[in-house]
Amino acid sequence: MDITHHQKLIIIGSGPAGYTAAIYAARANLSPVLFTGINPGGQLINTSTIENWPGNFPVITGTDLMNKMHKHAKLFNTTIVPEEIIKVRFNQIPFLLISDTHKKYTSDAVVIATGATAKSLGLPSEKKFMGRGVSSCAICDGFFYKNKNVAIVGGGNSAIEEALYLSNIAKEVHLIHRRENLRAEKILISRLLKKVKENSIIFHKNSIVHKILGDKTGVTGINIISTNNMLEKNYNINVSGVFIAIGHTPNTKIFLNQIKMKNDYITIKSGINGNYTQTSIPGIFAAGDVIDHVYKQAITASSSGCMAALDAEKYLDKVSNSI
Ligand code: FAD
Ligand code: NAP
Repeated sequence: MDITHHQKLIIIGSGPAGYTAAIYAARANLSPVLFTGINPGGQLINTSTIENWPGNFPVITGTDLMNKMHKHAKLFNTTIVPEEIIKVRFNQIPFLLISDTHKKYTSDAVVIATGATAKSLGLPSEKKFMGRGVSSCAICDGFFYKNKNVAIVGGGNSAIEEALYLSNIAKEVHLIHRRENLRAEKILISRLLKKVKENSIIFHKNSIVHKILGDKTGVTGINIISTNNMLEKNYNINVSGVFIAIGHTPNTKIFLNQIKMKNDYITIKSGINGNYTQTSIPGIFAAGDVIDHVYKQAITASSSGCMAALDAEKYLDKVSNSI
């Protein structure tokens, strides 16, 4: 643990935000060092095809897209380190980062692009059929269920938006929520109730998914049980897709007490000096799903990765000119 490796710019994360930041930073001669973490390529590695990445029509797989981003970043001489950052100290200059191999790194600037992890129900059957009928992104995967039956789990804004979205694509849409009342905004609830009235969405309240059923072709149904003992429901419905929309957890544990956060998302000082990725600490920038609880798309993550690299470049220029 004695050798310290000093860098101009460290990027934490190898999803679309991290790789895009690396490409821009490398082309600005910042010689970025990017840490991949334990999920190289990020969330898109868990999905089959990406149909909404501009310029790659008809389709590209998540793995291919992320492999291309990896190669692109390497082509411009980004140093890619297959390590996870387990500790940071942002109250000192240069900033200190320690990886899971116990190496110490210092850096003049940092881009945090550690993304988010979709929450899961924790069912063994959910894990088994992940990517084969189980998904956490209706906008991404909904199209594959055209004229098929689907279920959405959750009662927040995401679940309702996904149910409304899928009701225009799928044949039957089942919404499964563990309570009587929905957490989502009133406007979304009223849109949902309209669709329920029209029978284009079937609402299973006070219910949870007990098991996801399937075979070698993928998901074939779900077993639903009641959360309300009085009702004692236990029944199966036939669906080919199950969308888990019970929230995302940003990967920010290591930044606790180091940087300002709200609801575990890193807070951005929007618009400070025309700069949209600066965190509460000058020199530390953040991009992608780790700052975004609204859009959560590959293209928006990439775009903020680009902004973070440009902001870091401007910051490093200013710091070196003031010495
Ligand atoms: P992520 O992709 O989450 O990447 C985070 C990276 O940070 C990972 O590489 C991880 O290893 C790394 N990391 C985390 N902690 C550390 C650490 N301590 N040290 C080092 N590294 C660390 N979006 C679309 O636009 N189109 C789609 O079709 C689409 N399909 C999706 C399908 C699924 C199943 C899911 C879950 C999401 C999908 N999305 C899609 C959303 C998209 O994947 C995300 O919006 C995007 O990946 C966010 O990018 P990111 O770079 O911010 O973070
Ligand atoms: P969320 O608001 O946290 O809602 C998660 C939902 O999943 C809740 O209804 C919760 O039930 C349920 N849930 C959680 N764990 C569960 C489990 N283990 N089993 C079954 N159900 C479970 O998450 P979100 O809907 O993803 O929204 C996240 C944030 O993004 C929110 O701030 C939201 O407002 C925002 N957002 C906004 C928009 C918009 O403005 N249009 C769209 C999407 C998201 P309970 O209700 O019982 O807790």
